[in-house]
Order: sequence, then C-alpha cells, then structure tokens
Amino acid sequence: MTEVRVRFAPSPTGTLHIGGVRTALYSWLYARQQGGKFILRVEDTDQGRSTEESARVIVESLRWLGLDWDEGPEVGGPNGPYFQSQRLDIYREVVEKLIASGHAYRCYATKEEIEAAREAFAARTGRKEGFTFESPYRDGKQPADPSAPHVVRFKAPREGTTAWDDLIKGRIEIQHSTLQDFVLVRPDGMPLYNLGCVVDDITMGVTLVARGDDHMINTTPQILIYQALGAKVPEFAHVPMVLAPNGQKLSKRHAAVGVLEYRDMGYLPDAVLNYLVRLGWSYGDQEIFTRAELIEKFSWDRVGAQASRYDAKKFAYVQGEHLRMLDDARLAEEVAPFLEARGVKVAPDDPRLVKAMPYLKPRAVTLVELAEAAEYFFVDEPAMDEKAAAKFLTPEAVPHLRWLASTIAGVEPFTDAQLSPHVTAAMEAEGLTMKEIAQPARVALTGRTKSPGLFEVMEVLGKDATLARLERAIERAGT
Ligand code: GLU
Repeated sequence: MTEVRVRFAPSPTGTLHIGGVRTALYSWLYARQQGGKFILRVEDTDQGRSTEESARVIVESLRWLGLDWDEGPEVGGPNGPYFQSQRLDIYREVVEKLIASGHAYRCYATKEEIEAAREAFAARTGRKEGFTFESPYRDGKQPADPSAPHVVRFKAPREGTTAWDDLIKGRIEIQHSTLQDFVLVRPDGMPLYNLGCVVDDITMGVTLVARGDDHMINTTPQILIYQALGAKVPEFAHVPMVLAPNGQKLSKRHAAVGVLEYRDMGYLPDAVLNYLVRLGWSYGDQEIFTRAELIEKFSWDRVGAQASRYDAKKFAYVQGEHLRMLDDARLAEEVAPFLEARGVKVAPDDPRLVKAMPYLKPRAVTLVELAEAAEYFFVDEPAMDEKAAAKFLTPEAVPHLRWLASTIAGVEPFTDAQLSPHVTAAMEAEGLTMKEIAQPARVALTGRTKSPGLFEVMEVLGKDATLARLERAIERAGT
C-alpha cells in the first residue's frame, strides 16, 4: 500500500482562523491514524498579501495545537523548500515542459484587448456573466516581440468533462465548456495558485488533498494539469465552510476567528480540536473526545457535506469538559502561566496549586477563569472586595473570627477532612451557626464572597496563612 501523504497549504495572509485549523486537523488526524505523513507548505507567492509575520503565526498556532508536521518549515524534509516563494525554479521548469508538450502557451494579449473582448461578448449576448477569453495565441499567433510582457495560459479542453469522487462531496463532474484557458504564470514570472499547488502536490508525493470547499472551482483546472504532466491525480476531500451562527460568513464580529485568541482566552488545545472536529464530523452522539480517540475514530465518510455553524456556547461547554478531564498536576502546569500573566508567580508544581485544582475546577471553564479563582491563594494579602468587607468584616464578626482562629489552631493534619467535622462539632457545642462564621471567614481568607468550601480553602492555604489572614481580618473589622 502506498503511504498516506497529506498536506496543509495555507497562504500566509492573516491569522490562522478556525476554519483553516479544522481542515488541517482532519488531514492531520488522517495522517496519524494511517501512519502517514503530514506536510506543511506555505503558499506565499502572492507577494502583495503574504507576510512573514503571518507565516510565523501559522507555525505558532499549529505548534500550540499540537498538530505537528513531518515535513515543512523548521523541520525540513526531502521535498523542500516548503515555502513556495523559494520554489520558483521548480515551477519554471514545469511550465517550460507544459509549453513544449503543447499543453500551455504564452499569451501576449493586453488588458485592453481582453476588455474589448469582454465588451464584445456583452454586446453580442446581452449578458456579462459567462465570458471566457479566447486568446489568439492559443492557436499559434506569434507576438511581434517575444520578450514583451505576457502570461502563460493552460490550453484547456473545450469538450468533455472532468470528474472526481470527492471524499466529502461525492461524485463531481464539471463540463469543460465552462473553462477558459486559465493563467499559470503572471507577467512577473510568479506562478498562480493552481500551478504552484499542483507542482508541489506532485513533487511532495501528496496522495490526498483536503481543503476548503471554496477551492472546488480550482479542482478541474488542477486535475487537467496533473493529466498534462502525466502525474497521478490524488484523492480530494473538500471540507465545507464554518459559518457564523446566523449563516453569514464567519468573521470577527461573530467569534474569535484567530486560533491563538483561544489560547489567550485560556482554552486548551485538545478542547479546540474537539470542538472543531465535531463541527462537521460526527461519531454517534459522542461529543467529547480525547486526541487519541479522534485519531482512532476519524474518517472522511463521517464528515458532512454541508456547512456548519459556529456555536460559542457549545465551544465553552467542550472546553469546560476538557478542563475537568485533565489531572490536577497537568492542570496546575497549564494554569501557572496564566497566574504569572496576572503578576502572580507560582511554580507549576507548587503543591498548593495542585491541591487547589479539584476545588476550583468544577466552577471554571477556561484557564483564565481558573487563574482568577486561584489567585488569592498565592498572594500575601488577597485583593479585598470592599463591598464584601464592609458587609462581613464588621465588629460583630470579630468574636466569631477569633473563635474560629482558636478552634482551628490545634487541628492536625490541617485538611478539609479534619477541619470540617472538628469545627462543625465545636460550633454546635457553642451554639454558633455556619451562617455567622462562614461568610466573614471566607471574605477574610479569600477577599471575596464566592470560593470553594471554607475548609477546602483553609487546607490549600495551610495553617499559617489561614491564621494570619484571620488575624488581619480581625484587626480590620475591629477598627
Ligand atoms: N493556499 C490555499 C489556501 O490557503 C491552499 C488551498 C489548497 O489547500 O489547495 O486557501
């Protein structure tokens, strides 16, 4: 069996948006499942729009998501270079071959001539659409000056059809009568997308081309180029678009479209992949998948042919589930950089951080929320919610806080399991209620009115910090 070789071929003209990630993800899953190769190729021949910064963002995004590539930028490989702008000699050679074999020709028609033909078509037919330019150079007209600016066009067939069995869309058949002699090379010598893409897919040995279905219009020209070069045509899988909730094109107005924005919002890579894979692919009713499960279960025939709609709520749900799936030590590692971003330096393996995770994670969706919820454990003094302090750290609360401090001072080990029954029993013996004790103590320890259970908070803080915070609150409340 031939090795599965798939590629992701982004144009570096912006951020890596979530639709692009989903296409890359399907290919990556398939490569990993089949023990094949995943290639990253940067299609940067549109020099006006391509930027190095965008290429860097694409690489960073794929790295963050853990969609590693076997050949491409930074890792190299036997079929490089992996930036199209560095492969111009390869395209030039292929174009000469196509011209020599009669599949392509140099066309010297000027913009004005093409415009005139367009107008003549409109005058003749009464419509503008459906115009295809018939170049006089197709059938051997010679230019006055062969060095004059020109393009290279592919000699497209006028009759018959091109068909392929799309892995997602099914059988597609296109009439050649709709084609014109498409341009392969611009006057400045730069290859156009169809040429660069096919030459690269051939030389890189790509067996399956997955890309957005907005590219379906290019597939017939591409198949014709494969055939002209006597190359094997790969399989095609055209992935439907991800639309906005209202069915419009997804844009910044509807969602964070750049995938690194999700990183910065505190989403986990596995949650992003899980959500995106399910936008269009299904496996029974299952919603939550680990990365390993996705690799095992992915198949092209379960990718729907219709566009899907972005749903921020569902995305957040999937993220929350993945957050809770991580074990506490891993979660602590993930949350530490987010604490640091808030100016709170904590070692990722700080035992207090690890210990806090089971208490905090039931209420959090993102790592940003988790860091926010964990912050008061790791600062000398918790940031005080002044309203809460005014309400609960009152002179009446002082005896209760004193009582609590002396009640817990002797408890060993200082854990939720020990503290909870001990304090509850002592409270009953004194005729005190949880209501009198809990909120003032919570505000004293955390600076806020919402937190995990009081004794859970104490356990994570440890005895010294707990007593110090109670002491400070007593001072504050007593004045
Ligand atoms: N550079 C094209 C894009 O970013 C790639 C299309 C393809 O995968 O063939 O849309």
